[in-house]
Formats: sequence, C-alpha cells, structure tokens
Amino acid sequence: MQLLDGKLAAQAIKEDLHQKTSTLLQQGKRAPHLAAILVGTDGASETYVASKVKTCAEIGFESTLKRFPSTITEEELLQEIDELNNNDAVDGILVQLPLPKHISDDKVINKINPAKDVDGFHPVSVGNMVSGTPTFIPATPYGILLLLKQYNVETSGKHAVVIGRSHIVGTPMSILLSRKSNPGNCTVTICHSATTNLKEICLQGDIIVAALGQPEFLTADMVKDGAVIIDVGITRVADASKKSGFALKGDVKFDEVSVKSSYITPVPGGVGPMTIAGLLMNTYNAYMNKQ
Ligand code: NDP
Repeated sequence: MQLLDGKLAAQAIKEDLHQKTSTLLQQGKRAPHLAAILVGTDGASETYVASKVKTCAEIGFESTLKRFPSTITEEELLQEIDELNNNDAVDGILVQLPLPKHISDDKVINKINPAKDVDGFHPVSVGNMVSGTPTFIPATPYGILLLLKQYNVETSGKHAVVIGRSHIVGTPMSILLSRKSNPGNCTVTICHSATTNLKEICLQGDIIVAALGQPEFLTADMVKDGAVIIDVGITRVADASKKSGFALKGDVKFDEVSVKSSYITPVPGGVGPMTIAGLLMNTYNAYMNKQ
C-alpha cells in the first residue's frame, strides 16, 4: 500500500506557486489576490476559510477576508460580490458555503463573475467543464486529479466508483474521471443514497472515491484487492481525548481498507490539503488569464 500524501503533494504545488509569485513581484507586478466571503460563525467554515487565507500568505498571494454576520440580507451580500467583481485587483472570489437559509446559494454563485469563479461552481464554469473547455474546476476534484497525477496513478481504462453526487465533489469528479484525459479515461459509476447494490458496485471499483460524509462507511468487505481509495469525507466526531473536543473522520475505515488497497489517502492529510492546492492553482490561473 502506498499512501497518497496530500500534504506532501500540496506542499510541492505551494512551493511552485510561491516561486512564481516571487518572480511576478520581482518583475514589478502585483501578486494574485483571492477574496473570501464568510457569513456567520460556523466552526468548520471558519476553520476552512482561515486555512485558505493562511496559505495565501504563505505563498505570497494577497487575500481579503470579508466577514458578515448571519443577519446580512441576500441583497447586501449580492452587492458585496458585485464590488469584488468590479475590483480589478481581485482575481478570485470564493463564498464559503453553506450560507444561512434566507440566502440562495444559487443566486450568490450566479452573481460571481465567471472569470473570478475560482471555486468553479458558476454554471458557466460547470458548462465549460462538461464540454471539456479549459475552465475553473471545483477545488476538491481538481486537487484529487493533481494528487493522482503526482503519484502517477494509472486511471485509463479503470472502473471508477464515485460515492456521492454533490455539485461540489461527486458530480464533477465523475465527469472529470470519465473524460478522455490523464488522469481520467475511466469507466465511471456514480452512486448515491438511492443506490441499492452499493457494496456490489464498490467491489468492482478499481478506483473508489468516497464523498458521502458518513464516517468510516467504506469497509474492507466493500473493496477489492489493489483498489485505489480516495477518501474525501471529513466529519467532526466527538472525541474527549482531543483538545478541540472532536476528531476528523473520513468516509473510509482506514485501518482495514488500507491493507487491501494499492493507494489510499489519509484523513486528515489527503484530499483536504489538495483542495486548498486546487483553489490556489485556480486563483493563479485567474490572475494569469488577465495578463
Ligand atoms: P453532500 O452531503 O452534499 O453529498 C453527499 C452525497 O453522498 C449525496 O449525493 C448523497 O446522496 C450521498 N450519500 C449520503 N449517504 C449515502 C449513503 N449511505 N450511500 C450512498 N450515498 C450516500 O456532501 P459533499 O459532497 O459536500 O461532501 C461529502 C463529504 O466530503 C463530507 O464529509 C464533506 O465534509 C467532505 N468534503 C471534504 C472536502 C475536502 O477538502 N476534503 C471538500 C468538500 C467536502 P443523495 O444525493 O441521494 O442525497
């Protein structure tokens, strides 16, 4: 079994972007600039955004964090996005989801200028991704592709089973793995909560991407020998032994599945850091598209 070390792979990408940013600054240009919007005080969202902002600083990107109380109206939030759309010094905009119930995710996502849509959720980005036109790919699937590439994992002709069909992970992952590209060129089965023979399907998977948000769901009896396992799940599970009071659990029962797998991502330290790497790559590309 080989660990797909997302922390290590993300570090290599960050070093490369740091180098590129230093070169831009030496040439008298400005650094790429990511603007993040955080509404409310959800603990996990706070952690994710803080980590994105911190990583920008590490590699020399500029970042702006705009925080708003959960009482902000939809109209006010849309206006804030418009201001960022019109700010030439901002290359990428991300709105941390989920948003409070009174604000429509769709309206907010649709408001972002597609040229700055570094999360890749805007319908224009999604359409481009589906048609194979260069675009911003959602950060998590993008990070997974970068990780597979970094470790030279063979995907062509393999049967990939993706568990989960969300817009941010499962659906784009299944499309990207099915494309005629490397990584890609897989035969893909996408599973969800109404899939009746999930175990049977998983047992056929040469590659399994578990993105359902059910801690330790994928067990050894669901996996064939030599499978490549990508664990996207991150769930906070109460753990009194931790200072934070919780532990992070993936969707894969790592101890038993790792024994059967050829490659596997750990949680934490697998897909999580690669998601941030994907976002940074998108921000850099948004900047370069304007040059
Ligand atoms: P969603 O809740 O939006 O989607 C979960 C998907 O899994 C749905 O399609 C759902 O099916 C399916 N599902 C749920 N339970 C089952 C089940 N028992 N059997 C089969 N399918 C099931 O989650 P996300 O896609 O946003 O996230 C998935 C996980 O990945 C979460 O733990 C999240 O925290 C994590 N995540 C991690 C990231 C990272 O950087 N590592 C980034 C993004 C997410 P249905 O459509 O029928 O409801």
